[in-house]
Amino acid sequence: MPGCRAARWSRSTQSSTLSKQAVQKKLEKLGLRTRTDFVVHLPLRYEDETVLTALDAAPPGIAVQIEAKVERAEIAYRPRRQLIVHADGVVLRFFNFYGSQLKQFRRAAEEGLRVRAFGEVRAGWFGAEMAHPRYRIVREGEPLPDALTPIYPTTAGLSQAKLRERVLQELDSAQLDDTLPDALRRRHALAGFAESVKLLHRPPPGADLASLAGRSHLAWRRVKFDELLAQQLSMRFAYRERRTRQAPALPGNGPLLESFFKSLPFKLTRSQSRAAGEVLRDLAVAHPMQRLLQGDVGSGKTIVAAIACLAAVDAAWQAAVMAPTEILSEQHVRKFSEWLAPLGVRIVWLHGGLSRTQKKEALAGIAAGQAQVGIGTHALVQEDVEFRRLALAVVDEQHRFGVQQRLMLQKRSRTAVPHQLMMSATPIPRTLSMTYVADLDVSTIDEMPPGRRAVKTRLFSSKRRNEVLSRIREACAEGQQAYWVCPVIEGSKESDLQTALETYERLKNELASLRVGLLHGRMSPAEKAAVMDDFTTRKVQLLVCTTVIEVGVDVPNASLMVIESAERFGLAQMHQLRGRIGRGTRESVCILLFGSPLSEDASKRLDVIFKNSDGFEIARLDLELRGPGEYLGERQSGRLLRFADIERDADLVDAARQAATELLETDAEAAQLHVERWLSSRRELGHA
Ligand code: ADP
Ligand code: MG
Repeated sequence: MPGCRAARWSRSTQSSTLSKQAVQKKLEKLGLRTRTDFVVHLPLRYEDETVLTALDAAPPGIAVQIEAKVERAEIAYRPRRQLIVHADGVVLRFFNFYGSQLKQFRRAAEEGLRVRAFGEVRAGWFGAEMAHPRYRIVREGEPLPDALTPIYPTTAGLSQAKLRERVLQELDSAQLDDTLPDALRRRHALAGFAESVKLLHRPPPGADLASLAGRSHLAWRRVKFDELLAQQLSMRFAYRERRTRQAPALPGNGPLLESFFKSLPFKLTRSQSRAAGEVLRDLAVAHPMQRLLQGDVGSGKTIVAAIACLAAVDAAWQAAVMAPTEILSEQHVRKFSEWLAPLGVRIVWLHGGLSRTQKKEALAGIAAGQAQVGIGTHALVQEDVEFRRLALAVVDEQHRFGVQQRLMLQKRSRTAVPHQLMMSATPIPRTLSMTYVADLDVSTIDEMPPGRRAVKTRLFSSKRRNEVLSRIREACAEGQQAYWVCPVIEGSKESDLQTALETYERLKNELASLRVGLLHGRMSPAEKAAVMDDFTTRKVQLLVCTTVIEVGVDVPNASLMVIESAERFGLAQMHQLRGRIGRGTRESVCILLFGSPLSEDASKRLDVIFKNSDGFEIARLDLELRGPGEYLGERQSGRLLRFADIERDADLVDAARQAATELLETDAEAAQLHVERWLSSRRELGHA
């Protein structure tokens, strides 16, 4: 049986030395708790140990299995400590090893035993060599396994052998009933669940290695389908659950909203009207809305939020607007005051610059229900904030917040479950939104307000810095303003700050005739506000800044932006930054200064941002370059699929969506079981 065979393999890191609890811990780290978890812990790949390759026939760069008689073993100390095993015609090297392995090989040499080693054969100092092969000691003539060897995803210190033994053991005692009715399986041409997982854990002799490795095998297809279906179902369950909860119904036909529509500061674009309509329709229903409003930078999401807030205020409820930065929250305060204060709406801004008394007053206003719209950063989700009648929570730039913070805002309400409107300028590509945010309703603003001019993007090597400086001088001489965005330094806020300070000093010298200002994340809210104010009122002509201006800053007269060391920025970030200009009537230019040499990745990114201005297209290409895991970030990665690939398996995504509807209608119990099989322990781990 393959299970027994596998158990005799050893590796240089031996898990037999681990205590039972230690093993348990490692298994949990892999998300393996219930029997089912083991069943769906599927091999990453397979190794073919059913054949032996002659040493002189081993192709370079490909792992093969060889067998040779063990001659002697020793420990060498140069160039570093290592276990060296001399076998007939090949040398095996181990850099991490246990003393017991030395003994094991010495005994093998004495007894005339052989070693079967799996790995790449390389030409080394003494002839053929293998570094760190997986190996086992065998007698001459010991039969070869007749099935492929599965290699599982594991974690440091837990050996393949140990893990495999455990997985196969659980597989043999697990309940593998099919959760899909026969009819549904037939319709989607799916293999059975039990036969699929059994085959993937123990591919029989003669199984098609290529389709197993490429994950196109029917067994893989079934697994991927199941996974996608589980995801679809769990989202529908979440959606249903939401429909069982009560939220205030906000009819959206009150006097404030009516007068606001009559006196709009500008004509809404068609997308804005449509989005506002969708939001108002949701708010009128007595279940909590969970809507994502996505629209490119500058597409005008704020006014849609203002309309939603008015619907709440009209119905004698409160609304909260949360923004990721203080600067952004201040801009909201400014816009909301301009738009809503004339209607008599009372707005409270909760910010770091408030004195204790002022803060107390603000909190009291919110708690008493006197403040109708509360605006702030994550300060809004602190324990001491309690809305008397919160009906709507708006979260701007939602991707900047963790799930926890978003939920906290909901909890700030003393009475009802508030509706949620989330806004984002980092659009989620359609393929992703189908699988990852299916529990949200999505509104999209896909056009810009009229009069916008496309931003011209220019790529400059940092060697041409002087040319860039002259362009800034010219632009400012014509009364325009400019941003100079300092590079992000990986992993260190300190060095970000350092760079910003240095760049500021340098530019102040180089551009002595200009009024240069500095804005960075370490300044106090009051300092930041003062600098922004100077920039808005044109007292500052060139604003040197870190990415603190990335979100939401709106100064139409700024028409030039320099992004220094652009190669270090992510695509979404660059797109957001660039969106800060092109807001006035003038033609705007964004200069991407890059250092050389450029890595391949960096030059691809720069190429994308150079050629594209549509945020959705950029997001799509970003996803393509980085893959969904990176793209969504850690925060949401628990949702990630382990087996299916939404791009490559697009047909399965569609099939799973259809099947979800079918299954919920025909066999709700099976649907429940299906979700449990695939997601139960992940959810416990706080993933789903
Ligand atoms: P974002 O979607 O990036 O949050 P904003 O809501 O800040 O965009 O809008 C960007 C700018 O465009 C603001 O100055 C806003 O007042 C203006 N704006 C929004 N909608 C329109 C419109 N329909 N017509 C003209 N200007 C608009
Ligand atoms: Mg905005």
